[in-house]
This record gives sequence, C-alpha cells and structure tokens, in this order.
Amino acid sequence: MKVNKFGGASVKNAEGIKNISHIIKDFNEHTIVVVSAIGKTTNLLESITRAFYNEDDAKWDLFNTLKENHLSIINFLFEGKTPFITNDIENILLELECFLDRENKTESYDFYYDQIVPFGEILASRILAHYLNFVQVKSHWVDSRNFIVTDDYHREARIDWDSTCKVVKNQLRKLANKSTVVMQGFISRSHKGTNTTLGREGSDYTAAILAHCLDSKSVTIWKDVDGVMNADPKRFDEVEKIDKISFNEAIELAYYGATIIHPKTIQPLKAKKIPLFVKSFINPKNPGTQVLESEKCIQIPCIIVKDNQCLINIKSKDLSFIAENHLQNIFSIFSKHKLRMHVMQNSAISFTCCTDRIPERVSNLVSELKELFEVELIDDVYINSIYNYQISDKYKMASNPLLKQFNETVYHEVLAK
Ligand code: ASP
Ligand code: MG
Repeated sequence: MKVNKFGGASVKNAEGIKNISHIIKDFNEHTIVVVSAIGKTTNLLESITRAFYNEDDAKWDLFNTLKENHLSIINFLFEGKTPFITNDIENILLELECFLDRENKTESYDFYYDQIVPFGEILASRILAHYLNFVQVKSHWVDSRNFIVTDDYHREARIDWDSTCKVVKNQLRKLANKSTVVMQGFISRSHKGTNTTLGREGSDYTAAILAHCLDSKSVTIWKDVDGVMNADPKRFDEVEKIDKISFNEAIELAYYGATIIHPKTIQPLKAKKIPLFVKSFINPKNPGTQVLESEKCIQIPCIIVKDNQCLINIKSKDLSFIAENHLQNIFSIFSKHKLRMHVMQNSAISFTCCTDRIPERVSNLVSELKELFEVELIDDVYINSIYNYQISDKYKMASNPLLKQFNETVYHEVLAK
C-alpha cells in the first residue's frame, strides 16, 4: 500500500484537480491519497476564525469568498451536471456557516481554530473524491479525524500512536484494499471527540503517520517543483536538484527551516525505513528526490532561509549568570506559549534566540519573560542557514549579521529584514 500526498498548490483550481486525477489514474493500483485544502484556503479560514472570534462581521464576506471559490471549482469540474455533488458541497459550507453564526464563546481561540480551519481539507477532499469517481477512478472518501487520534493540544496536537495505529490497521486497511481512499491531511480528533490540527503544513505528517501505521511501501509528496533543491528557486538562481537525501539529512534540513518537507514527517518513516519521494505534479514522469535510510548523501551546499522570525535577547535583571535555573525558566515560558526556539546562543549574562513571528504569542511571551528578565525584542528578522558550509564557495557571509553561529557543517546568520 502506497501513500500519496497532494498539497494545496496541486489542487489550487479545477485544472489542478483534473491534473492530479490523471496522476492517480496512472498509478494503476489502489493507494491512499492525502489532500490539503485548496490553494490558500487555510489562510482564508484563519482570517475567518479571527473575525469569528473577534465578533467581526467581516467573517461573512470572507465566508462568501470561500464559498464562491469552491462552488466555482465544482461548476467548472462537473459543469452543473451533478446536482447531488453541488448539494453535498453546499451542505458542508452550510455546516460552517451555522458554526460561524454562534455567539456564545466559552473556549480558547485555538479551540475554535481547530473547529473552523479543518473545513478547508474536508471541502478539498470531497471535491477530489467526487471528481475521481466522475472520471471512473473508483475512490472512497473517508474522514481522517476518525483515524488520527491526538491529545487536545490545539493547533499542534500530538499523536496518540497506539490508538491511531490500531484504528488505521483495523479499519482503514480494509477500505484501502478495496479502492483508492481519499482523505485529508492536517486534521485529527482528540480523545475528547473535538477537532484538532497538526500544525500548519501538517498534511505531509499525516501521510507519514498513515504510512507508518500501515507499513507502507512508500510515501510520495507531490509538489510544484522537481524535487528537493539545494536552495529555494524563487530566491536564488542556479539551484540544483538533489537526487537522494538520507533521513538524517532531511531531518536536519527541515529543522533549519527547509519548507519542502514538514519537519515531523521524517521520523515515522525513518523508524520503519519507508522511502519518501518528492515529485513534481507538473512533470510526474521526472524521478524527483528520494529520501531514504543511508549514509550522508548531500555533497553540495544547501541554503535555507527561515523567514518571519523575531530575535529575542534575554538578560538577568541583576547581571547574575544565565545558568541552569534561568534557562529552565526561559525554556518553560517558551513552551507554555507554544513558541519554538531557533539558533540559540548564550553568554555569561545573556541568552539569545530566534522564534517564530506569531504576534499574539510573542507579545504574551515577552510580557511573561519581562517579569523575570530584561528582554529586548527585534521584530521581523530572518535566518540564513548554510548546510555543508565548508564546501560552499558561492555563498558570502553577511558583513554584519545580528547573530552568527557555526557548527561542524552548518553556518547560521540572523539578519534584519
Ligand atoms: N492546509 C494546511 C495548511 O495550509 C495543511 C497543509 O497544507 O499541509 O497549513
Ligand atoms: Mg495547505
């Protein structure tokens, strides 16, 4: 059983959906198809959630945009010939509309996020499953929330592996043996029965979880690029495709911010040595990149840019050393505010790191840190990381980075926007 994951860019419009239906048809075997929300739908749903939570009537305009986007895609795909499909999609939209009508809010923002944002994946997967059947590719739509079981850490839920593997093996396998199964990435359900999500861009992770539980032969992630490149082609000229990457290298690159594969995706595959392919949905015949269990594979420098960061400098108020007890406090405050640290550095009296620029979380974090420390925040910076730096002759270090750090193979520099 193979798992194929198609991201938002591959289903961004009706043409995209048609294109991937050809790819799926060419598989000539049943597979599990994991799909994300159409194009930028998740961003739109995030805006809807914010408006809903702030009781802002803008939610209705945003909702109407979402509705029109989806209805126009189905009109194009089915040319109005299948009223039951239109009815099905309208019904899902109605469910969201009714939810948005609620006034009484007793739960956290993150809780509501997880009830609203999954609609993007539900809509995309339903449209794709209908279309596959329409073009005679027998497919079965299932709701991933019945299979991916998590705790209730909203927006970044953690997998309950035992429960997930049990239900995937017992229930999903049966269906997947009979026909192609279309399901959603990114969305899950907690033990308490409420929706959860696995973190932005989490659909790759869903594909890896399913493959792990099913002992799949492989996972393929279909992208709009030919595979993993040594730098982002949108930012750098002369990029090179990498044919093979070891699991360990992929974990490292994802950790530094390479966005091509979601960071959590590799572990579940590595544990069972399930190869991962990254291929182009534009040129599906091209071989792409293979990620596999191996010694070091990458022999060229790779440049990874991590955008949307803040740089935070923390000093003790009494100039005492930043020692274990301070570090313990700092780490637990970051964890409480669900913020990760990137490129950490400490000296005798200060600790500096970058963190993701999520305004409401960062401002809460800084207020809490300020109760204990002197805190300086530099908003909007980015990190350049150069992997295999020692063999890089092209990349020149910036003359005045806000922070720089070397380790054996990687050089990081933090730069102001
Ligand atoms: N639709 C979700 C997002 O955009 C999940 C994904 O694309 O993987 O973050
Ligand atoms: Mg997406």
